[in-house]
Amino acid sequence: MRIEFPNPFKAPGRWFKGNLHTHTTQSDGAHTPQEIVDRYAQNGYDFLAITDHDKLIPLDDLDPRGMLLIPGEEVGVGRGELGSSFHLVLLGIQRPISAKSPQAVIDEAREQGGEVVLCHPYWSLLTLSDLLSIDGYIAIEVFNSTCHHSIGKGFSSVHWDGLLAAGRRVWGVAVDDAHHHFNDHRPDDVCVAWISVKAEELSLEAILESMRRGLFYSSFGPEIIDLSVEGGVIHVKTTPVKHITFASGAGRGERWTAIETETITEAHHTIREGERFIRVECMDREGRWAWTNPILITD
Ligand SMILES: [Zn+2]
Ligand SMILES: [Zn+2]
Repeated sequence: MRIEFPNPFKAPGRWFKGNLHTHTTQSDGAHTPQEIVDRYAQNGYDFLAITDHDKLIPLDDLDPRGMLLIPGEEVGVGRGELGSSFHLVLLGIQRPISAKSPQAVIDEAREQGGEVVLCHPYWSLLTLSDLLSIDGYIAIEVFNSTCHHSIGKGFSSVHWDGLLAAGRRVWGVAVDDAHHHFNDHRPDDVCVAWISVKAEELSLEAILESMRRGLFYSSFGPEIIDLSVEGGVIHVKTTPVKHITFASGAGRGERWTAIETETITEAHHTIREGERFIRVECMDREGRWAWTNPILITD
């Protein structure tokens, strides 16, 4: 059994917290670019990607308030089998993207040294075939705050497991897709979710490189404190949660639920024959989740 897991909990460096998907008044967001930067900085974030629709806005005039600001853009292109378009967040690009098909957009962004996240597949009602029809994106949004708060379609773990079961090496990110849109029965979507990246320094190249390697986890509540893989056993420690799941392929995996105690803070799983990937997810008593990247298993 060969295990591939670039373990962020054992890698050198420190943790940096960031949001990868953010809109401003330059597209359909309600905060100006500086207002949104201020809010994320005040809430303890270390980096923020500004990703307005079809617009790569200049960041030089902004006061980053100590954060790393990542240039970006969100594009909607192509047509999935149910008729909706692919939304792609392009991170670390240098020039606006001119390509018009999902694969060409991904290729053009990567040629510029950037990386691509496939956005909110559940909200878009993209199918697994749609997701398998393109490649080169490093992650999908396993959670999107504004999709969750607006229409209850924030979770895309089913899509992620489909990709992993099909043998794709793709990560999951939790993002806000912040617009500062809210009302009396819909919470604000700013400063809800994040990824925690393990990197040597807070620079665009260091953060992107750690993301390429999968050295991060995602959350909108619980923290994952440690994860080890030794002798075919995965052991995870978290802040107090209601359940911890080792998610895998069809009919496989394992869940630990707090039954005799209010919460649990650790769980373990022995990798079984036929499990090609295991990723850990957990939910706290307030219904907030966290996700690790997958541990990939080959013979
Ligand atoms: Zn979108
Ligand atoms: Zn968006």
